[in-house]
Amino acid sequence: MQETVVVIGGGQAGAQVAQSLRQGGFEGPIRLIGDEPHPPYQRPPLSKKFLAGEIGPEGLWLRPPAFYTTQNIDLIPDTRVVSIDRGAKRLKLENGDTLDYGRLVLATGTQARRIALPGHDLDGVVTLRGIADVDHIRSLFDRHQKLVIVGGGYIGLEVAAVARELGKDVSVVEAQDRVMKRVVSPIISEFYTDLHREKGVVLHLDTGIEAIEGRDAVEGVRLSNGETIPADLVLIAVGAVPNDHLAEEAGLDADDGILVDGAGQTSDESIYAAGDCTRFHSSRYGRSIRMESVQNAIDQAKAVAQSIMGQEVDYDPLPWFWSDQYHVKLQIAGLSEGYDDTVVAGDLKTAKFYVAYLRDGNLIAVDSINSPRSHMMARRVIGEPWRPDLLPDA
Ligand code: FAD
Repeated sequence: MQETVVVIGGGQAGAQVAQSLRQGGFEGPIRLIGDEPHPPYQRPPLSKKFLAGEIGPEGLWLRPPAFYTTQNIDLIPDTRVVSIDRGAKRLKLENGDTLDYGRLVLATGTQARRIALPGHDLDGVVTLRGIADVDHIRSLFDRHQKLVIVGGGYIGLEVAAVARELGKDVSVVEAQDRVMKRVVSPIISEFYTDLHREKGVVLHLDTGIEAIEGRDAVEGVRLSNGETIPADLVLIAVGAVPNDHLAEEAGLDADDGILVDGAGQTSDESIYAAGDCTRFHSSRYGRSIRMESVQNAIDQAKAVAQSIMGQEVDYDPLPWFWSDQYHVKLQIAGLSEGYDDTVVAGDLKTAKFYVAYLRDGNLIAVDSINSPRSHMMARRVIGEPWRPDLLPDA
């Protein structure tokens, strides 16, 4: 009889661990516990088609609920794990029950970062991480017109695009001097700044927030330059923090993410972790990284399933990511941090181009705009010395 595998977190990574275990022939009991009331679902459409109302919740599901039954995966939704007793290999659930494990997988994801601003708890101040958040935002869209988005990262900008297409008045306030600064180069930031401004978004760069104003509900946002923007809905989109507290409280090593090795193993050999909640050493990049992407959730989960089944794995991925805003698809392959040169090919005016990032003459990353062919090829050739015919025309 194989040991019971319990997975905490019924998101992209947790569901993938369970599925890959079964696909790999694991026959022991699998329990997949999540604190949301839904079957495991994908989050990317939350700030895109789901927010726009183009798909319903079923369109987000990774697998139909019957899949878990047929695969003999015990799906336990709406249930929060509150502590891990590593000595007894036992979990405590919020409802008071306990659950024993042989091997445990933490796939607890992240939560939206909050900011302690005056007025942060007023009605109409929201964050976006799950289906419940989007349901709430959509109900506010029915009544409100003036949206202020705090944070010009990819989630903030995707929401800005959808809200503009729904006819809302949208302002984005970004503390940095350019949008998406953490992930893209100035050329791409400038392209998106122009795009959003053309679409009617009011973008405040290099600008902080002093307070969210209002009596019970939001009425405005006071900026660091003294200006107040009228608002009846404020989205705080300033990044995410890993859900690593459960691991930390159980004495596992964590540092802005649960620390795992290439096999996805934590500092306890019976406990693994996968997805947004992890931090791992990348030999490819020579440093520890924490990724928030579907690619990482899926591939690291597969690696964890393999190691639970006794196979040798050394997870060291080539990261990739995408963002959809209006008619524009951004696809990122590799991490561009540390580049010393760029090559731009294609046409910025028709929104079909790519930026190749080089370090010491080698290709380290490519940002593709409406150019899926260059993205797919980039994923194959990153690491090679740059030459002009390495990537197809944008
Ligand atoms: P999650 O999907 O967050 O799943 C973790 C689950 O664990 C959650 O359901 C959580 O509630 C649950 N949980 C946490 N603690 C407990 C507990 N104690 N007990 C029980 N359950 C618990 N990535 C891309 O690559 N491209 C995109 O375009 C993109 N767009 C995105 C848009 C939005 C709005 C968001 C929020 C994310 C987006 N991402 C995108 C990121 C991507 O969705 C994540 O990287 C991915 O969901 C990570 O999967 P995960 O399983 O690690 O975490």
